[in-house]
Amino acid sequence: MGKIQELSEQLANQIAAGEVVERPASVVKELVENAIDAGSTQIDIFIEEAGLKTIQVIDNGEGIAKDDILNAFKRHATSKIHTRDDLFRIRSLGFRGEALPSIASVSEITVETAVTDEAEGSFIQMKGGKVEEHRPAALRKGTKITVANLFFNTPARLKYVKTIQTELANVGDIVNRLALSHPHIAFRLVHDGNKMMNTAGNGDLKQAIAGIYGISTAKKMLKIQAEDLDFKLFGYVSLPEVTRASRNYLSMIINGRYIKNFALNKAIVEGYGSKLMVGRFPIAVLEIQMDPLLVDVNVHPTKQEVRLSKEKELMALISGAIADVLRQEQLIPNAADNLRFKKKVDQPKVEQMEIPLSDQNEDAKPVPVRKPGSLGYDAASGNFFVKETLTEFPKAKPAFAEMQHQESVTPDMDKEALLAHAFGSPVQEPVAETVVEATESSDTPLSETSEQVYEEELSHHPEFDFTARESERELATALNKLATEKPKERFPELDYFGQMHGTYLFAQSKEGLYIIDQHAAQERIKYEYFREKIGEVSDDLQELLVPIVLDYPNSDALKIKEQKEILAQVGIHLEDFGQNSFIVRAHPTWYPPGEEETIIREMIDMFLTTGKVSVKKFREATAIMMSCKRSIKANHYLNEQQARVLLKDLAACENPFNCPHGRPVLIHFTNSDMEKMFKRIQDPH
Ligand code: ADP
Ligand code: MG
Repeated sequence: MGKIQELSEQLANQIAAGEVVERPASVVKELVENAIDAGSTQIDIFIEEAGLKTIQVIDNGEGIAKDDILNAFKRHATSKIHTRDDLFRIRSLGFRGEALPSIASVSEITVETAVTDEAEGSFIQMKGGKVEEHRPAALRKGTKITVANLFFNTPARLKYVKTIQTELANVGDIVNRLALSHPHIAFRLVHDGNKMMNTAGNGDLKQAIAGIYGISTAKKMLKIQAEDLDFKLFGYVSLPEVTRASRNYLSMIINGRYIKNFALNKAIVEGYGSKLMVGRFPIAVLEIQMDPLLVDVNVHPTKQEVRLSKEKELMALISGAIADVLRQEQLIPNAADNLRFKKKVDQPKVEQMEIPLSDQNEDAKPVPVRKPGSLGYDAASGNFFVKETLTEFPKAKPAFAEMQHQESVTPDMDKEALLAHAFGSPVQEPVAETVVEATESSDTPLSETSEQVYEEELSHHPEFDFTARESERELATALNKLATEKPKERFPELDYFGQMHGTYLFAQSKEGLYIIDQHAAQERIKYEYFREKIGEVSDDLQELLVPIVLDYPNSDALKIKEQKEILAQVGIHLEDFGQNSFIVRAHPTWYPPGEEETIIREMIDMFLTTGKVSVKKFREATAIMMSCKRSIKANHYLNEQQARVLLKDLAACENPFNCPHGRPVLIHFTNSDMEKMFKRIQDPH
């Protein structure tokens, strides 16, 4: 007799479960996706011990008919697709018919469900994939599924499950993403009796963002809207001042499905250009509608990876839309926002703390939590901050602490970040918060930028609770006001009146006081100057009196030979000169006299360290390098005329708001901020 036998259905389901049901968060994801597909408008998720004990999802969707209930637990049984054509036009989140049988095979599951046009509902209870009880149940619209003792019969899988905190962070993350993808549905997540998040479900994406990231973050998000023949893009991206240390706050939604896609994330970052600090990432929620034919979701059982047919086009649409909206913005950070004059210093209420979206996990460690304290100033980022005392996060609510922990930058991410910003030229100044590990944060309170600390604090709004009708109305008014605010003048007319410590310039306008970082300002001016100069492919060359000979080791020489074109496009014309040498006879006229050779060598070095790059990026990186080297540093006194010229040049910049590394060039105290500081008017809060 042959040795090959068909696996029992139960075993096959357990094997499939290995792919679909990795951890409690995967169960939550599958159950909630089913509830979404069932047309629910309210989905409540109750979990205990991060879902390891129980996961309960209650929806008000269409329910499962009596005749269907057993089929729902059969492998490859689905109500969502029927033909091969359907597979290429998937509009629902599920379609593989794998989730319920997989989950049932590794847990104890009960389902209570009813469809409205039947006389009664059904109740079914299964353990390890076997039916234990099946009977009629009371009629109640929708479905209630409870999964208990997950992985009770697969000890190996249970071993892979991390700590409660990590698993809870994962559940929080997936629910957040699902809620962001479906602003029409009211979500509620409750862990061990504590509400972790809820959204209003009124269809307004900005309100969903507010429910998840907090109202202050939502207020600092800009609306993005664009379309071309294939794609329709809608969503919100944060102002460049609101950044995070990882990409976990970028959410990409395609036809209602949250997906992970590196290229699209990169497109978001590219849209910010040099407005973003190196190693920092914005918060973004982007919904993309497209013909389902253009996207293949059947790549992986979890359906989070997709293949896009016109990825490049979509990337261009995203970057372009973001660049456009940022160009129209007045981008001077408000000093008082940073200083929190406007806000009461409240203790954050734990249930309303922000749950960052994350997709990587580490084992939990006790993590410090920030408490408000006295004012300080971070010279590296040019921001004010509140000096905090750090205390250990209370044990009972550890998930959020762990999530903060995940804000740390891994070396990997750093590299990607640098690549994302043109490429990491050797002269890029180290930015403190990109190199400090969060594990050190107990003794280095500056491990995150000040504005991030604020963001975290501001996002905990005890006054902001969606359960209260009153605050919902307040939020709506606040958001409406935001939408109707007139676009401010792009750059103020600055009247210079003084310098401090050879570092900051002071200026006023009718709008209030401005403090300008002179180094950052000059870097920006020079950067734009050089970018333009390097960008001009001019025949205007200056002959060198003594040609420069450049020698390289053979591997480098080969690279240079292959890519001579690119170098020529930035004004470096190399002639072969023996095996591994080149000769330069002329240079563009704009090179500052005496620095020709240094510039040429630096540009080639930069080219060699980064390899093959596009001319555009090469120009940009070169311009950053040159501007940084040749700008006035701190502790340099400018006379009045020099200062005025600097401010005039700054005003003429295309982006006068950030230095090429993304740090702010100037900050603003509004007149009313000043009045509040001196208690001339009452703070309304
Ligand atoms: P899929 O979602 O890929 O179809 P599942 O195993 O997740 O496969 O679910 C099987 C079937 O059970 C679904 O096609 C759907 O008809 C039904 N179902 C599951 N959950 C629900 C729910 N919450 N409400 C209504 N129907 C549901
Ligand atoms: Mg499903």
